[in-house]
Amino acid sequence: MGKPTGFMEFERHDRAYTPVEERLKHFKEFVVPLADAELKTQAARCMDCGIPFCHNGCPVNNQIPDWNDLVYTGDWKQAAQNLHSTNNFPEVTGRICPAPCEAACTLNIDDNPVTIKTIEAAIADRAWTEGWIKPQPAAHKTGKKIAIVGSGPAGLAAAQQLGRAGHDVHVFEKNAFPGGLLRYGIPDFKMEKTIIERRVKQMESEGVTFHCNTAVGPGGRTLEALSAEYDAVLLASGAEKPRDIPVNGRDLAGIHFAMDFLPQQNRRVSGEPVSNQGTGETAHGRHVVVIGGGDTGSDCIGTSFRQGAASVTQLEIMPLPPTKENKDLTWPHWPLKMRTSSSQAEGAKRDFSVNTKRFEGKDGRVTTLVCVKVDDTFKEIPGSEFDIPADLVLLAMGFVSPLTDGLGLQLDPRGNVKADDKGYATSLSNVYVAGDMRRGQSLVVWAIREGRQAAHAIDKALMGKTTLPR
Ligand SMILES: Cc1cc2nc3c(=O)[nH]c(=O)nc-3n(C[C@H](O)[C@H](O)[C@H](O)COP(=O)(O)OP(=O)(O)OC[C@H]3O[C@@H](n4cnc5c(N)ncnc54)[C@H](O)[C@@H]3O)c2cc1C
Ligand code: SF4
Repeated sequence: MGKPTGFMEFERHDRAYTPVEERLKHFKEFVVPLADAELKTQAARCMDCGIPFCHNGCPVNNQIPDWNDLVYTGDWKQAAQNLHSTNNFPEVTGRICPAPCEAACTLNIDDNPVTIKTIEAAIADRAWTEGWIKPQPAAHKTGKKIAIVGSGPAGLAAAQQLGRAGHDVHVFEKNAFPGGLLRYGIPDFKMEKTIIERRVKQMESEGVTFHCNTAVGPGGRTLEALSAEYDAVLLASGAEKPRDIPVNGRDLAGIHFAMDFLPQQNRRVSGEPVSNQGTGETAHGRHVVVIGGGDTGSDCIGTSFRQGAASVTQLEIMPLPPTKENKDLTWPHWPLKMRTSSSQAEGAKRDFSVNTKRFEGKDGRVTTLVCVKVDDTFKEIPGSEFDIPADLVLLAMGFVSPLTDGLGLQLDPRGNVKADDKGYATSLSNVYVAGDMRRGQSLVVWAIREGRQAAHAIDKALMGKTTLPR
């Protein structure tokens, strides 16, 4: 905790954003950090609440009251050490986590949670600028070789943990650079890519080897060959099969999956050539419709505005959620309620309870969405049909499952790779799985947790015991 009476003395005050007209001119981050004195005051609001629900609400179980107290008393270095004891990449979660910890905070009963995420980002950023984050190579090598397939947050967290435990870790990544969705999904305006690059450098100095442009599976290096060569293989290849909308006109030009569109802008920002696997077109001058109301949809909105879209409309099939949750029913869990992301606040029109019946076009390119209103069971409301003009449509309706064809793995009923969250072992000997590939489309913080826990399980299986935290 910070100051026992702090929550009664100080109001919640969080980071601000630069004005919309300013931030739309570039792809850089636009969050304005709090000054040190204000951070201390905000940390002081963490009270002696007895049971720190925040700690359980956080998937990596960050020791939130402890580092709030350390920030309040000015011991930032110790705060950084504490934070890194549960989370390999707090500068990432401090930027892009939806912060289930804040929903769980006792002060959220009153809608005024501690600014946990802001304090987390400040501790991590300070640790980098002060030079406290250094490579931590293992003192002793185990002689065991581990392959990790995929370099998203799950693969990276596992690689760092296993490398520090003394194993020879090799990460295989099909893209040109490591990071997974941190690099190719999440836009730079939410998180600049130097954040990942410096972590990758740290991990290389700790002995982790990255093999980029190297796909594992059919057409690439086989899983069989990898598991014969390595003592253990961890699959952390994400959930990449997007949900489609198989209606008339789907094959018209100008209709793309979000992940054929977003990575290309991240490549442009990084100076990497756009890939021929996505679309080369941008939203410039287009009337954009984004189908899907989640994080990915928001990222399509912010990217489209920065590319110079004429208008952006976002459609959601779910009904308009309540503006305020019923705390008695939801707290300390993540509540369903109306939220407006920074991208949505940049001028997107939003509509709820809308389904797309078909796409219409001219000269082979989409011009119109024909939509209907649906009730709470997604049943069409008769007579509710309406048109939306659109010459670029981005499909952001989530991801169905991982791509597993040809890997010979047992799947769970949802099509994810089958493994429990104790041993993370798949149906194949010496092959483990973590992150979205196991749990389905989720969050970065869950991927970090799974990577850390899978590393614990692998180390224990190879060595008979482990000191890696779970
Ligand atoms: C656009 C978008 C925005 C998001 N925004 C947020 C957000 O703001 N906050 C949040 O918490 N979560 C967000 N998420 C979800 C989050 O990014 C994922 O839950 C998380 O990245 C999953 O981590 P992972 O390591 O399991 O997989 P991924 O990050 O998907 O990484 C998998 C990696 O495996 C590689 N790979 C796949 N197949 C192979 C193969 N055969 N051989 C070699 N490599 C392979 C891929 O190229 C990729 O690098 C977002 C998701 C998307 C799509
Ligand atoms: S729940 Fe809120 S007030 Fe309680 S320890 Fe956690 S951050 Fe502090």
